[in-house]
Amino acid sequence: MRIFLLLACGAAIVYPADTRRPKIIDAHVHFNGDPAFLTAYTKKLESVDGQGLLIAEQKHIATVKAFMERNPNRLYGLGQMSLDHPDALRMVDEFHEAGFRGLGELTGPEASYDDKRYWPIYERAEKYGMILLFHTGIVNRRNFAEPMNVSSDRMRVMTLDLIARRFPKLTLIAAHLGNPDYAWAAEIGRWNPNLVFDVSGSTLYKKQADLSYFKSIFWWDNLVSPHTPKTNVSAFEKLVFGSDVFGGELAEFERELELYNKLLDACGVPAASRENIFSGTLWKVLNRVR
Ligand SMILES: [Zn+2]
Repeated sequence: MRIFLLLACGAAIVYPADTRRPKIIDAHVHFNGDPAFLTAYTKKLESVDGQGLLIAEQKHIATVKAFMERNPNRLYGLGQMSLDHPDALRMVDEFHEAGFRGLGELTGPEASYDDKRYWPIYERAEKYGMILLFHTGIVNRRNFAEPMNVSSDRMRVMTLDLIARRFPKLTLIAAHLGNPDYAWAAEIGRWNPNLVFDVSGSTLYKKQADLSYFKSIFWWDNLVSPHTPKTNVSAFEKLVFGSDVFGGELAEFERELELYNKLLDACGVPAASRENIFSGTLWKVLNRVR
């Protein structure tokens, strides 16, 4: 399958042909700028029949693009940028023209994610059919001495509800399941088909003694009611796999896989749903399969 996207100027972006669903699609991996990481991570993906959504900054576009051309059907680019950058729209164009499939991990906004000042960026990304990966919930603080204009409150998961409804052709991935707003995350996910979650980060460690708790969050399996959208799949299919490997720490990939499997075991999630969680859902998005 070859997919063409026509640009306003008439040039066509050709996305790589990919006719076979891999076993794993990692929705969340940070490029640390070291080309050796690209090789090591791609090797890891090959060993598990995987693909990855690689988060890369503007300054790394050329490196990542060249690597992806040499290693087709393994990595998809996500452009790391600040929503508050004065040149944000041009950056979206640049990532798109380089063949990147989305933006992320969006984080640290100066206003809430759903603030109208960011709508032109979402509109542009929607035009390109992009995937937006948002950091949601509590965020780390690395340098305690440095003053920062950062607040987890502006990244609450419920700020994605408006974006999902207002920009229905965007695919939103809320990283970290809104930690700790899990209940809100699931509820807005229930009504927004274009919103999914990864559960990377500290959540599966925090909840390891109580993993069946998530059954109360993803509660709507097989329910027939006018008060919930019709679905014949497990509510856990709101999850996609994300490793949140950063700083080149590849061991995190295996740890996340193990944690995801423990969660899905504890909640009795069926095999067909696991296939979608680990790759099927994102494979359809990436290949425009409806
Ligand atoms: Zn994050």
